[in-house]
Amino acid sequence: MRTSYDVVIVGGGIVGSSAAYFLKKHGFMGSIALIERDTSYAKGCTARSCGGIRQQFSTPENIQLSKFGLNILRNLKQEFGPEADVSFREQGYLILASESGKAILEENHRVQIENGADNILLDAEGLAKQFPWLATDGLALGCFGRRGEGWLDPYSLMSLFRKAAASRGVEIIQGEVASVKKQAGKATAITLADGSEIACGTLVNAGGAGAGALAKMAGIDLPVGPRKRYVYVLDCPGASDALHKAPLTVDISGIYFRPEGRQFICGLSPEEGDEPSEMDWEVDYAWFEERIWETLAARVPAFEAIKVVNAWVGHYDYNALDQNAVIGPHPELSNFLFANGFSGHGLQQGPGAGNALAELILHGAYRTIDLKRFGFERIARNAPLFEKNVI
Ligand SMILES: Cc1cc2nc3c(=O)[nH]c(=O)nc-3n(C[C@H](O)[C@H](O)[C@H](O)COP(=O)(O)OP(=O)(O)OC[C@H]3O[C@@H](n4cnc5c(N)ncnc54)[C@H](O)[C@@H]3O)c2cc1C
Repeated sequence: MRTSYDVVIVGGGIVGSSAAYFLKKHGFMGSIALIERDTSYAKGCTARSCGGIRQQFSTPENIQLSKFGLNILRNLKQEFGPEADVSFREQGYLILASESGKAILEENHRVQIENGADNILLDAEGLAKQFPWLATDGLALGCFGRRGEGWLDPYSLMSLFRKAAASRGVEIIQGEVASVKKQAGKATAITLADGSEIACGTLVNAGGAGAGALAKMAGIDLPVGPRKRYVYVLDCPGASDALHKAPLTVDISGIYFRPEGRQFICGLSPEEGDEPSEMDWEVDYAWFEERIWETLAARVPAFEAIKVVNAWVGHYDYNALDQNAVIGPHPELSNFLFANGFSGHGLQQGPGAGNALAELILHGAYRTIDLKRFGFERIARNAPLFEKNVI
């Protein structure tokens, strides 16, 4: 380990790993340290993610970022070699709307089509025809992604980026960043919990759900912190083949489910006032019984006979201002860059965000996707740019 690096990236999840990778891929000649407190990566957002990728967003930048991720998936072997595999299943997303949500779904669909997505709108009759396992009561419309949407193994994707970065000379350092030093409008060094100090030319915050705490070390208020989410694994012995081929389906209640091997997974983000207060790793099984099961079984009658066989907790990297990512430098600490607050869609956007960070560091500007609207300035101005499709 050296005592100084040109670029210090804090956080070795999908965002930090891909930033390190793209810097090297795009020809950065300087030294890069990727600092990670938990090199098992077991509790980071990435490992706990559901691995979904979609173009069904309301913000054009989110669609473009996900399309960047999709392009990586489509060219995985060219990017990472013939053995690369992340088990990408292109089974689509299906987002449902009631009469009251119909106009928003139509507007989102328009934005998605403008940005090159292959999504179609289906009325209740069309939904019943295409998805015979779905009860269409109360549904006015659904938006189905025919191509470019589905899910993958998040851990494998993160590992591909990290290993490829390491093989190009990025140094991976195990340690917890405990403080950030500043001088004359620059972040100059970080200190690890063991007391060692590492000087930096550029500092990147890729701390996931810990990004707000990391920003605080530099005296910066970043409204990004952990939000506890449960993912339940379900067994449904009587599920039809058609149901096993279902897209990731988001009900009008906000409950989502998708096939996972021969089982299914599902979850539901709580309302703002209903968020769990403890950021621990305990599963609340009552949440499934009380909030999910009945509604899910009403939407998919085959799920009447469902059994929860497993579950896990993950902490969303939640941006409390507007549920969109914050990407780019801090206005007053210009060598401190952020890529945080993806609020449940950062796995698919991690590669695009990592590439964007690499472009900022190498060229001082975006070359692939213009992400200026995602900059820190909107946080400073308290001017939210809301993403409507947060799952
Ligand atoms: C249950 C769940 C389901 C999800 N489903 C999806 C989905 O379907 N599709 C999708 O696109 N996204 C999904 N997400 C969101 C996605 O997982 C995250 O947005 C994404 O993984 C963020 O990547 P990251 O690299 O920023 O964070 P992480 O993977 O959390 O990496 C950040 C790393 O920083 C490290 N770190 C933090 N602070 C410090 C410090 N002070 N010192 C050293 N290291 C530090 C952490 O240990 C961590 O490993 C989901 C998330 C959860 C929790």
